[in-house]
Amino acid sequence: MSSALRALFRTLKTAGQRVAKPLQRGDGPNKFDLSSVDTATTTYEGDDGWAKRPPATLECPRCGSDILQHNARDSIDCPRCVAEFEYEEFTDLELLHLTCPICGSRMLHGQRHPEQFDIPEWATCNACRYHWEFKHSYVGDR
Ligand SMILES: [Zn+2]
Ligand SMILES: [Zn+2]
Repeated sequence: MSSALRALFRTLKTAGQRVAKPLQRGDGPNKFDLSSVDTATTTYEGDDGWAKRPPATLECPRCGSDILQHNARDSIDCPRCVAEFEYEEFTDLELLHLTCPICGSRMLHGQRHPEQFDIPEWATCNACRYHWEFKHSYVGDR
């Protein structure tokens, strides 16, 4: 694994922990401790890119039921009522949670650029450590 990749994984892990903790004032995005090496031996499993997004559970805007969208390119059909949406309409619906494709746990998800994107940009599974990332280019804009 290249050192750039290792640095990325460290950043991902640190970012996940930051979100899981209560917000701390003054804890800016540039204060990652890049000297930490504790992830070097961590088993890491993950994917990136929207096409590999974990299954999402959305809320039906008509009847409030959970709609499972297995794949980012699947249409979004409510199992209880007639509501039906194209995958492009994902951002119009309320995202309840993502499901870990490895172990089936609910994942923690969040955004890195809420002002630019209307979609989750990362999701992490606390049960099996699977991590999904929308894309990697954010690493360069710090
Ligand atoms: Zn419905
Ligand atoms: Zn998992």
